[in-house]
Amino acid sequence: MSTLPRLVPPCSPEAPELRALREEVREFLDDQRAAGAFTPHVDCWISAWDEEFTAALAIRGWLGLTVPEEYGGHGKSFLHRYVVTEELLAAGAPVAAHWVGDRQIAPSLLKYGTEGQRHAFLPGIVRGERFFAIGMSEPDSGSDLASARTRAVRVEDGWRITGTKVWTSGAHRSHALMLLARTSPVDPEHRHAGLSQFIVDLDSPGLTISPIHWMNGEHHFNEVSLDEVFVPDDRVFGEIGNGWKQVTSELGFERSGPERTLSTFPVLAGLADRMGRGELPADPALGRLVARITGARQMSAAVAGQLQRHLPADVAAAVVKVLGTTTEGDIADLADLHCDDTTDPGFRDLVQTAVDHRPGFTIRGGTNEILRGVIARELGLR
Ligand SMILES: Cc1cc2nc3c(=O)[nH]c(=O)nc-3n(C[C@H](O)[C@H](O)[C@H](O)COP(=O)(O)OP(=O)(O)OC[C@H]3O[C@@H](n4cnc5c(N)ncnc54)[C@H](O)[C@@H]3O)c2cc1C
Repeated sequence: MSTLPRLVPPCSPEAPELRALREEVREFLDDQRAAGAFTPHVDCWISAWDEEFTAALAIRGWLGLTVPEEYGGHGKSFLHRYVVTEELLAAGAPVAAHWVGDRQIAPSLLKYGTEGQRHAFLPGIVRGERFFAIGMSEPDSGSDLASARTRAVRVEDGWRITGTKVWTSGAHRSHALMLLARTSPVDPEHRHAGLSQFIVDLDSPGLTISPIHWMNGEHHFNEVSLDEVFVPDDRVFGEIGNGWKQVTSELGFERSGPERTLSTFPVLAGLADRMGRGELPADPALGRLVARITGARQMSAAVAGQLQRHLPADVAAAVVKVLGTTTEGDIADLADLHCDDTTDPGFRDLVQTAVDHRPGFTIRGGTNEILRGVIARELGLR
């Protein structure tokens, strides 16, 4: 019988230095909560935007942890970053403003950016002053990014970009968009060729940002239309034609983080507290969810270790995303089953937001249906 490949790398125990950092972040969060700086949010990394809180984190040195010192960063490991982000998410802290820049754009700039782009953008990300959005999805090409129709046409000294991006989280409050566009016509034999990335200023002439409201009225999504938007040569990101490879390497960072397990953690903690105090009837389903979240957490931390070692983690990240996002959704459902008119209004609101946000957990960052296909391919099942 053949052995199945190991999908997720092994996890190592937390080093004392990381344990100390964890305690420091917890103390900071306790102080912030006591000072009324925030109340816990569900899905805080996408919907809780607070630039003052971001600035407070930057002062502590907790943004740009993995960015080298020469670009204003702190030269620490992905595991340091993991500890800080895990504590912030578990507390439901308002981290949306810097999330995309810190998680995704900074490592991408280090991997594919020019020296000029690194100096132009990294210090602002580390100071919590420069915010980014991601322009990948389009109408009719979400899961199938290779069918992107936004086109960039070569002109003197740069490119002119025309097309529409959707579901662009935070674009209305960000400074720049990391955009994927076609730079040569689709070749049916090589659908992933001819795609390129650009760093587009969100106040560029010809660019329009229109809100798309969440079903409960919240606004974090947008449609971004580009009509012949000029992007100079120094904002071409990476290599022209290499967009597919660049985007898929960014997705390793996007899919595996603690945000794929902890979006509803404040709800799980609230449920456990209330069951522990006897305010809600004890339910063994809580234990099952704690076990699942613990397993997903171990795997997510293991992927952070893998990224730290500069080893590929795409399939492992897909496993974390499928298991983690299903669990965080099931937490919302269990809490919803236990809430009624007698539940305190603060917790009821938190649970209702979790239920409203639930459909997005398994969709964003690549849908779970597609990721199951990626995992199946690795296992030799398709
Ligand atoms: C909260 C949230 C935030 C987001 N933020 C951003 C952002 O900032 N920037 C950005 O670019 N995008 C963002 N997205 C978009 C997201 O990445 C896309 O919605 C996602 O990739 C799916 O694309 P789609 O919506 O076009 O659905 P589709 O691709 O049309 O898929 C619809 C359904 O069909 C299934 N499906 C499609 N093809 C197949 C197949 N071959 N086999 C089996 N099933 C299939 C999918 O799994 C899904 O269930 C965000 C989405 C959410 C929910």
